[in-house]
Amino acid sequence: PTYDSIHELSEFIQVCVPVLEHFDTHYGEQLGQRWTAAREVLLHPRSWQHGVMLNRFAAPQDVREQLLLQGFSNLLPRSSGSSLQCFVHRSPVHVPSQRHQAGQLKQYYLLNAASLLPVLALDVREGDRVLDLCSAPGGKALAILQSATPGVLHCNELDAHRHEWLVKTLESFVPQTLSDVLKVSNLDGRLFGKIEAGAYDKVLLDAPCSNDRSWLFSGRPQHGALWLRERAKLPELQKDLLRSALEAVVPGGLVVYSTCTLSRAENSEVVQDILSSCPNIELQELNELALSFAHHFTFDPNTPFGLLVVPDYGRTWGPMFVSKLKKLC
Ligand code: SAM
Repeated sequence: PTYDSIHELSEFIQVCVPVLEHFDTHYGEQLGQRWTAAREVLLHPRSWQHGVMLNRFAAPQDVREQLLLQGFSNLLPRSSGSSLQCFVHRSPVHVPSQRHQAGQLKQYYLLNAASLLPVLALDVREGDRVLDLCSAPGGKALAILQSATPGVLHCNELDAHRHEWLVKTLESFVPQTLSDVLKVSNLDGRLFGKIEAGAYDKVLLDAPCSNDRSWLFSGRPQHGALWLRERAKLPELQKDLLRSALEAVVPGGLVVYSTCTLSRAENSEVVQDILSSCPNIELQELNELALSFAHHFTFDPNTPFGLLVVPDYGRTWGPMFVSKLKKLC
């Protein structure tokens, strides 16, 4: 498109032009034709599909039946044996979010279904000691608790407001009976490698990132300039957080690194840098995971060191990058 057409578009849906131009340059080169579809999807929020994750603690049988009647299907077939249930639809059907009602747990949580990939990659088992290093608003922590009951699930979030939001999410979805499993903190994730070295079996690092969907609609162009400056600092923060996450697991422990950006500098290059500087870290295959979701998500075949879900026509899920690392000793 010409520069003019970008401006026309931006007037209509308040796209942040410098951000879109940056994406066109970088993602166009990185993803080729796939960027054409991803760009269309990202620019049209009305086309976005929504995943409906059921809350197993609120016995949502009626919600499940309603969703099936509306043509939703379970992303994770019963044969997978997982207690995690997330319903998806081929079309962008609107599902209202639930209001908080005193004394009642919410029955479902709305999310981008690709956000479940990092949780599935972490493969939490009963009794595992798990750290969710950057946890707010808590969607992936909830997904972990839908899949299994860990021995400990420590949810940490640095930002004070987002930490409050995390606490509210957990209160709205998780029963009191699990309060001895859950721990919530408000610390800089970079500290955990020192203060809790070797304390966990598994760590999820769902890192702060460029968040392509929200920045594209950040409005005025001056926000775009700020975004470009802030974005340049992210890979260093992500590497520091990833080193901290790796120090927080026992030898043999697993770390999943994820982001919701298409940016190579924040995805593959972060993992590559860690692998080349830490000889005791081994990359884990995610081929089986990719195969089992190939009919729902579009994966970029050229992304090394992990899986990248790229938004596509009729499969608007993503962006989501996920990589899995094992600490050998
Ligand atoms: N995992 C969350 C979920 O599924 O709902 C989303 C996490 S979001 C992608 C990343 C979070 O990291 C943000 O809430 C951000 O405030 C937090 N964050 C940023 N810097 C951090 C740091 N140094 N330590 C811990 N959390 C941090």
